[in-house]
Amino acid sequence: MSRFLSAKYAYLKPYTPGEQPRDAQYVKLNTNESPFPPSPRVVAAAEREAGRLNLYSDPECTLLKQAAANLYGVEPKNVLPVNGSDEILYFAFLAFGDKQNPFAFADISYGFYPVYAQICAVPSREIPLTNDYAIDYRDYLGIAEHILIANPNAPTGTCLPFWQIEEIVRSNPDHVVIIDEAYIDFGGESCVPLIQKYDNLLVIQTFSKSRSLAGARLGFGIGCESLIRDLNTIKYSINPYNVNRMTQAAGVAAIEDDAYYRANVETIIAVREETVQQLRSLGFTVLPSSANFVFAKSGSISGEELYQSLKSRCVLVRHFTKERIKDFCRITIGTREQMQILISNIQAILTEKG
Ligand code: PMP
Repeated sequence: MSRFLSAKYAYLKPYTPGEQPRDAQYVKLNTNESPFPPSPRVVAAAEREAGRLNLYSDPECTLLKQAAANLYGVEPKNVLPVNGSDEILYFAFLAFGDKQNPFAFADISYGFYPVYAQICAVPSREIPLTNDYAIDYRDYLGIAEHILIANPNAPTGTCLPFWQIEEIVRSNPDHVVIIDEAYIDFGGESCVPLIQKYDNLLVIQTFSKSRSLAGARLGFGIGCESLIRDLNTIKYSINPYNVNRMTQAAGVAAIEDDAYYRANVETIIAVREETVQQLRSLGFTVLPSSANFVFAKSGSISGEELYQSLKSRCVLVRHFTKERIKDFCRITIGTREQMQILISNIQAILTEKG
């Protein structure tokens, strides 16, 4: 820490992103990226835009907003494109949180939530998952805080049905309910249609997972006009050109090439189900997943040891040290070939251990 750092950040604990090794040797199953490249149309669109990088991007993201509105079945005024969904989480804490307006989220969820709460000086309450690592929607009915739920949850992969999300939104009319749908395309039902009915619902989506654009940084906030206006006030007070030209063009092309992504998502879901079966037959407990990852623990090897042993064999998965989940590893679903490599390495590790 330098002697210039503001005292208010002295105890800030930043988010630790998953490892991004520079060499390509690893089978990389640790940050929930898509194993499939963006579609050729998306690559061509980004390349075309590269020649215009001397000009600022459209701060309104007009074309992208229109395309996203069509995709989600809403109006452009209901959509805010952002630099990865992380950015809109930050905007939301800034816009809606303060000492009198705390947030509530699950004790086991996306690790960035408590970090944003801390940097924005927003008090927060962590609501424990049930014993089987699920969110009990009844814990969120009529509570005293703004609510932030990842649905499907991460790193567990479990998902709440549409009607339970609606109950949460309906029972908290004076609080913003933010549903982070980063993984919704892999099995859950999106609650975007509910924004027409409730002015306290903000839905967050990302193109980082199902749409193979993690490196482009593109996400969306979807909500009623007034919520989006508030978030725009924050955006225009921080970074009006938050979505760069290449990403805006790539986003439009990705939406136009919807069939390509739907096919990839189907493949990932099929491979996920095969992987779950294989892990279970190796003695793993695997939580039911509606995401592009599985959360699994072995009966015979600790989460830390499995993570380390796989890493030494050039397979990267994610391990969290938090007490409640330290026995688990989160494994991103890659291609069928990558998952075969994972499974045969796990078999070898378990055999070595005897
Ligand atoms: N929400 C959840 C639940 C996530 O797991 C992630 C990915 N780390 C994000 C949001 C952020 O994704 P991005 O900023 O790439 O859109």
